[in-house]
Amino acid sequence: MTDIIQLLPDNIANQIAAGEVIQRPASAVKELLENAVDAGATEIQLIITDAGKSLIQVIDNGNGMSETDARMAFERHATSKIKVIEDLFKIKTMGFRGEALASIAAVAQVELKTRKAENELGSFIEIENSIVLKQEPCAYNVGTSISMKNLFFNVPARRNFLKSNAAEMRHIVDEFIRVAMAFPQIFFSLNSNGQQVFYLEAGNLKQRIIQILGNQYNAKMVSVHEETDYMNIYGFVGKPETAKKTRGDQYFFVNSRFIKSAYLNHAVNGAFENMIAKDSFPSYVLFIDLDPAQIDINVHPTKQEIKFEDEKIIYAFVQAAVKHALAQFSIAPSLDFTLNAEIQNLEAVNKPFTAEKKEAASSSNLFKTFTQKNQAHFIEKNDKNELKHWKDFYESEKQEVKSEKLEFEQKTINSPFSFLHSQFIQLHNTYIIAATNNGFILVHQQLAHERILYEKFSAASHGQQMPAQKSLFPISLELAAADAVLLEELLPDLSVIGYQIEPFGSNTFVIQASPADVLQGNEKNSIELLIEQFKHFSSDVKFSKREKLIRCMSRQQAIKAGQNLSQKEMQTLVEELFQCTTPNSTASGAPTYLEFKEDYLDRMFGK
Ligand code: ADP
Ligand code: MG
Repeated sequence: MTDIIQLLPDNIANQIAAGEVIQRPASAVKELLENAVDAGATEIQLIITDAGKSLIQVIDNGNGMSETDARMAFERHATSKIKVIEDLFKIKTMGFRGEALASIAAVAQVELKTRKAENELGSFIEIENSIVLKQEPCAYNVGTSISMKNLFFNVPARRNFLKSNAAEMRHIVDEFIRVAMAFPQIFFSLNSNGQQVFYLEAGNLKQRIIQILGNQYNAKMVSVHEETDYMNIYGFVGKPETAKKTRGDQYFFVNSRFIKSAYLNHAVNGAFENMIAKDSFPSYVLFIDLDPAQIDINVHPTKQEIKFEDEKIIYAFVQAAVKHALAQFSIAPSLDFTLNAEIQNLEAVNKPFTAEKKEAASSSNLFKTFTQKNQAHFIEKNDKNELKHWKDFYESEKQEVKSEKLEFEQKTINSPFSFLHSQFIQLHNTYIIAATNNGFILVHQQLAHERILYEKFSAASHGQQMPAQKSLFPISLELAAADAVLLEELLPDLSVIGYQIEPFGSNTFVIQASPADVLQGNEKNSIELLIEQFKHFSSDVKFSKREKLIRCMSRQQAIKAGQNLSQKEMQTLVEELFQCTTPNSTASGAPTYLEFKEDYLDRMFGK
């Protein structure tokens, strides 16, 4: 019998481990930027070629590395940031797992130049496939430059898995923004294919937010600032008028680390209750600082999720702090009395949270009512609400199957109707009643129009070019850099459905023409809304970019419930609906009309 178990060679073990840390160019960007921050840099430059597929370079003026450290840095589990396990509970740096450089060296061709201030000469190292090809002294400034070329050159399967340049670039910009937002005192720049995308002078948080999110936030931010012995929160929330129809500019940082937390997001949304429409999302950039022992950031290799020792207190604190800020700036005058009382009594805000106090507080009535409202099932419910607009994308599979069946049944039985043409009746500015030869149908105007537009846009995307109308005055559209990258990516698909949009340098675009069906004067809004909606998509959604775009557009452009329609408009709507190949439901499976047949009506009346 021969033994069959072998130890994996280092380079293969590293490649496998790399899979966890480096999924795409943007993950490498995040790790390299964080290393530069940890090294105490005050200036950090990011240089990208081909969305990071050819080159990712980070140049910093931080501490640099000694010759030995430069070599050691690429070993797996090599870190200067923790020594003993207890250190895990007092992490003040962004990195600590000692995996990033080893992973990067396993899946790319890496060149490192680095020098410490006390050394006259720096070190140069060339490494690929975890093998050091060259190591020699070199002249270099104080600091570090790491270039990472041809990511996944030795793992073709993963290279093929990468998305389009525009999509990968968008991920890079997201990661760049998350790091740059957290460290406004550091200069950051981002250069992509020779073009300056960001140039962020060092400054304060407010300046950084405006640099990144755009000047429209100036004068529209409310400062949040609360300190207790247990934790501090600071940052800004957008005034209610900056709320967006989809989750837009929402940033949470815990100890300077960007995190995704539906739970904390819910806390902020709650603070805006009754101030913004139910289906819109507040903008915010919030920082929570607390004792690292109170959190576990080691729950995920990329450290974007963390566990709090006591989540409920954080929730209550965040919500109270935001409410307080809004009240102080009299954004929420109607809340004044009750809110102040509530906040004053709120233990999490007022008192340092020692263990005994925590104990006492959690038995107090206020605390109980406060937390009871925020139990998990509440939050789940709201999470679904947030996705309401997108339920077609998330629940599509299920619904598609259902609606196909429905379509089949209804088509054979009902369609086409012969209408008794004379009259259409609009009810509640939402429903249209149309008499048919054997009963009547009740059409939902918004859903019906959504179906009509969906089929028009789909037809356009299959070659029947959509008629476009030239804008009388070309409309210019100035976007935040990240949004510009996204719009650039959507341009070809937009042109198919009749939008003629041209890049006009430095994140500006000009809308030359829009689909003939789109209301003139509304072009700019509709593109901005589209971008917002797109940002909201998670990448694992199964629809193609074009399908998402079409669904977004048809939903967005549909006549809304509540709009008064003339006889002529109702007639056109109903006629166009029944010219559709699938008139009876929207793309996401909501019914567009209900039919009431005479015999059914008779039965209902016992006739
Ligand atoms: P971690 O950041 O988790 O410690 P990395 O693999 O990212 O692990 O880096 C390994 C080590 O290399 C770091 O602990 C640090 O000492 C050193 N290092 C990495 N990047 C830089 C840099 N830009 N400047 C100075 N030292 C660096
Ligand atoms: Mg690191």
